[in-house]
Amino acid sequence: MNNLGNIFSELNNLSRLSIPAIRITDIIDIIIVAVLIYIIIAWIKETRAWSLFKGIVVIIILCLLSYQFHFYTVSWIIERTLSVGIIALIVLFQPEFRKGLEQLGKGRIVSNIFVNEDDEKLSLRTIEEVITACYKMAAVKTGALILLEKNVALGDLEETGIEIDAVVSSQLLINIFENKTPLHDGAVLIRNNRVAAATCIMPLTQSEIGLDLGTRHRAAVGASEVSDAYVIVVSEETGAVSVAYNGRLYRNVNEDKIRSMLLDDKKIASRRISLWKGKKQ
Ligand code: ATP
Ligand code: MG
Repeated sequence: MNNLGNIFSELNNLSRLSIPAIRITDIIDIIIVAVLIYIIIAWIKETRAWSLFKGIVVIIILCLLSYQFHFYTVSWIIERTLSVGIIALIVLFQPEFRKGLEQLGKGRIVSNIFVNEDDEKLSLRTIEEVITACYKMAAVKTGALILLEKNVALGDLEETGIEIDAVVSSQLLINIFENKTPLHDGAVLIRNNRVAAATCIMPLTQSEIGLDLGTRHRAAVGASEVSDAYVIVVSEETGAVSVAYNGRLYRNVNEDKIRSMLLDDKKIASRRISLWKGKKQ
């Protein structure tokens, strides 16, 4: 009885609390902040900074945990490295920040927000079209470089090329890499089953990949080092098809090998999506 009385007197006190009047400018203020946060997260997802963002979230969680449970050593390390770390991040991701500001100026970030993301980044049809194109080009020694984007978004590398945004077909890919045509140089980027862009410039790897290999193969390995993409190279000199993945170059692979690499990966991805959605596989 006594408890009930306490609850009622608390409620009475609460009702006497003055709630500040909400003005229309406050609502506009909140909307602007919400849109800004959304734009920043959408931009981060478009670039390689997405992995970095996830890393920062982990560090923040670690900070909160160490604060809550008094992990003295972890707190000490975080305190000492935080200021240096922020400067290092700005220096390391200076190109991304510059691109972000440039895009903001061009109004591209806002338009990207409304792009619908498909769960299936690489359909069976896309895989087959890419494989057909690669081995047809290999047969006539047409050089090619194709990136199949997965979870690490490569918006910044795409920016270096010419936008295509077309359905993937072997004919289109063969046409793009046809020698002496305007789009044949550089790499093609495939995202969400669309040919996103051509003539993209990839970062060259600094690692040792073989003296007989030139810049096309270096670019393939370089792109696979900065992302989780599968990068397929067709050599103009030998007609060999190779795949770069995770910083490794799998040289001279046959059609079945590429198919099994891409299909295995697709199975793992679809299993993850199903688990995420709580479906039974
Ligand atoms: P191949 O066996 O086809 O001759 P390679 O590894 O010997 O390949 P190069 O002969 O140097 O390489 O190939 C040059 C071509 O590679 C260029 O014409 C261009 O299309 C492509 N390329 C070079 N550098 C890059 C880069 N940074 N990003 C994307 N493509 C590149
Ligand atoms: Mg060469």
